[in-house]
Amino acid sequence: MNDDSQKDKLRQHFARRVTTQARVVLDTWQKIHEDTGQSAVFRGDFARAADKLVRYAKRFDMESHADSGRQVFDLIGEWPEGTALPEGLDRKLQDAIEQLSHCTLRRTDQEASEAPQQYRRTPVYIALASEEMAGRLIRQLEFFGFRASAFNTADKLIEACALHKPETILMDVNYGGEPLSGIATIERLQERHDTPIPIIFMSDEDGTIQTRLRASRCGGEEFFYPAVDPGQLIEKIETYTHGNTVEPYKVLVLDDSRAQAKFMETVLKKAGMNAHIITDPMEIIHALESFSPEIIILDMYMPGCTGMEIARVIRQQDRFHSVPIIYLSAEEDVSKQLHAMSLGGDDFLTKPIDPKHLISTIHNRGRRARSLLALMIRDSLTGLFNHTHTLHLLDQEIVRARQKDQQLCFAMIDIDYFKKVNDTFGHPIGDRVLRSLSMFLKQRLRKTDHIGRYGGEEFAIILPDTRESDARNVLNEIRERFSELLQPAGDREFNVTFSCGVAAWKGDTSQALCERADKALYRSKAEGRNCVTAAGD
Ligand code: GH3
Ligand code: MG
Ligand code: MG
Repeated sequence: MNDDSQKDKLRQHFARRVTTQARVVLDTWQKIHEDTGQSAVFRGDFARAADKLVRYAKRFDMESHADSGRQVFDLIGEWPEGTALPEGLDRKLQDAIEQLSHCTLRRTDQEASEAPQQYRRTPVYIALASEEMAGRLIRQLEFFGFRASAFNTADKLIEACALHKPETILMDVNYGGEPLSGIATIERLQERHDTPIPIIFMSDEDGTIQTRLRASRCGGEEFFYPAVDPGQLIEKIETYTHGNTVEPYKVLVLDDSRAQAKFMETVLKKAGMNAHIITDPMEIIHALESFSPEIIILDMYMPGCTGMEIARVIRQQDRFHSVPIIYLSAEEDVSKQLHAMSLGGDDFLTKPIDPKHLISTIHNRGRRARSLLALMIRDSLTGLFNHTHTLHLLDQEIVRARQKDQQLCFAMIDIDYFKKVNDTFGHPIGDRVLRSLSMFLKQRLRKTDHIGRYGGEEFAIILPDTRESDARNVLNEIRERFSELLQPAGDREFNVTFSCGVAAWKGDTSQALCERADKALYRSKAEGRNCVTAAGD
């Protein structure tokens, strides 16, 4: 054995000691977290475990473990001996622990530093027979901001799930080597969790109805048979992880009874919704404008006017023509309810309100309203804003920038030689490249930026409160990263680049701003493509 490989072996050996110690810390936290009433008993063990971790990690030069361990240890210092875990500390410790489990799970620090800074909090776990495929997926997922980890035994997977419940698991049906042993592992795993983890199953060999049924019964949301390509998988994973980033519904409640209104507010907020309550019907116009509700709940009978009259007024405004309206009343007379519905209501709930019924009605109505709205303003291939809506948003942002006296940038992106991608790999792979760029942009830009599909392979980005030089830098970074991304096409992989033009708003019209961005884009193309040009340059 040569010197280098011996050193490597030693390093691996020490690294294992550190990660084992990190697991002791994580396990102890799990015990404390499960039963905070009994937590005083574990405080000493917890402190000793964290201290040991820091010492090991320092000795073996594992800095990220040392840092996280130190953070945990310092926080334990704020916890008085002999007492239960103080409330505020719980959250802080949980954060530090998450950071620690992040170092323990991720494959190497170097790989992580290439990935976007802002990781989603919840990981994706991968249990595939092919290590090579798992590694490829992890690298791809990291580009999209997912924290993915692969496991080589079922026990390790189950252990990791106990420490950190994943967003989804990608599972080979035969994972573990035996036929259906992957499904058996998931069945075992789901028993330990109150709410099932969504699973994406895949199989090269077995697509029978028996297997599909068994997979679906233990939480299988998808079943890929035969094998899939990573592009398709990443899109699926993206849809399952979207749930966490969904905005809460904005619900406006008008009820003249203060007690009833308060009750509704509590129920809605508890369900994670964004509730705005008014008790005076005359405030409705102001509330519509300032709050822009997605769903409106109206009391049927109020002094001065009825809910039905208010609904009619709401419906007279174009913007609120399709916002769902739900009536509340003690009224049980069916013919009156029908009459109310004919005047522009969508649903009817009778008092006393059953909170569960209320929340599920809002969810159903809200989901439908959002998907209808999406049809109007979003592009179906990528889910980004369509051309018309992007321009509408640009006009809105110009108004806002003027009001707030802020800067604003507009960027246009066009994929390079996209025709060749279609010609070489086929139109469906071309479509996938478009979706991959759109996911990439969504992941890398701020929530306040607007991203639109401007046309075929053209994208537009609105960056509020941004200087031209900053916009150029951000887009240039995105350009560079995107060009490194391997686009899968069956057994082959290829790279795609884009050109970009950025322009800052100069107090002119949206049309003039678009033209300047377009000219800058044209210059990028003329200068050899795969670059970003600022109009001001
Ligand atoms: P350049 O670097 O100059 O931009 O070259 P290009 O090939 O990207 O540009 P060109 O405008 O010649 O071709 C654009 C291609 O984009 C042609 C069209 O078939 C393809 N395209 C447009 N919309 C879609 C789509 O929705 N899906 C797919 N797969 N291809 C599309
Ligand atoms: Mg083009
Ligand atoms: Mg092009």
